[in-house]
Amino acid sequence: MRLVVDLNRCQGYAQCAFLAPDVFAMHGDEALLYNPHADDTQREHVRRAVAACPVQAILVEGLDEAVGASAASGEGMSRER
Ligand code: SF4
Repeated sequence: MRLVVDLNRCQGYAQCAFLAPDVFAMHGDEALLYNPHADDTQREHVRRAVAACPVQAILVEGLDEAVGASAASGEGMSRER
């Protein structure tokens, strides 16, 4: 899973840090730190964080396997069970 936070949009509401503390963290009052390569075990937390962000600043690639996950970048996206 690869994620990006649009820091121009992010208003530092910290919803994401609250819902997915292993992926997002507030540094001081406004700076957001995050792990752009969050582990798959964080999927559900990240999903909640994305849904909760009031300004939709969190963009995630590979969050929903069912949703057009045909990333042709050759980065091992062909995992089926
Ligand atoms: S929830 Fe959204 S606005 Fe708030 S800190 Fe996270 S990314 Fe920024």
